[in-house]
Amino acid sequence: MSTQTKGPVIIITGTPGTGKTTHAQLLAEESPVPLKHINVGQWAKERDLYESYDEEWQSHTVDEDRLLDELEPLVAEGGLILDWHTCELFPERWADLVVVLRCDHTQLWERLEKRGYALKKIQENNEAEIMEVVLDEARSSYPADIVVELKSEGTDDLESNVARIVQWIHAWLKDREKISG
Ligand code: ADP
Repeated sequence: MSTQTKGPVIIITGTPGTGKTTHAQLLAEESPVPLKHINVGQWAKERDLYESYDEEWQSHTVDEDRLLDELEPLVAEGGLILDWHTCELFPERWADLVVVLRCDHTQLWERLEKRGYALKKIQENNEAEIMEVVLDEARSSYPADIVVELKSEGTDDLESNVARIVQWIHAWLKDREKISG
């Protein structure tokens, strides 16, 4: 792929259940440039990049160094959506846009219940959403002008958010043409 056609790297983050994967899938379909969607949690699992499983929190601990090493060449190619519930470990230079999805906590609770999460895990995630943990993390890890907070509570939000990101991609591509041309 030439540098001219290289797509952006977009991080879609947010508390589990806020709609990252749903947004990433639709965005990959609607983007004007090819975007490879990586559900980082799943991707790490498939490659056995986990160090341990925490029984208490029913979650895996990822080997961050190996994860970053394996993602680096894909990031260098560009045209990527990184979909994960955390973003601070990704180097600042990787991201062209960081989207933080937000959801009303009652709705989030229902989504996580439907997913079959244990009560403790639902409570923990719900609290994290109320405390804006992921938003704070994104804001402290990336420049303010590339971090966007978007509401993800209904299909109207989903469609308008993806349309907005598509608009952003068009503008990003135009800027790049100016730079390379
Ligand atoms: P995440 O990847 O952040 O864990 P998902 O994309 O898997 O979240 O979404 C969790 C659930 O919530 C799914 O059933 C999805 O259909 C629903 N959902 C997420 N975002 C929206 C939205 N904006 N409107 C309606 N349903 C949504």
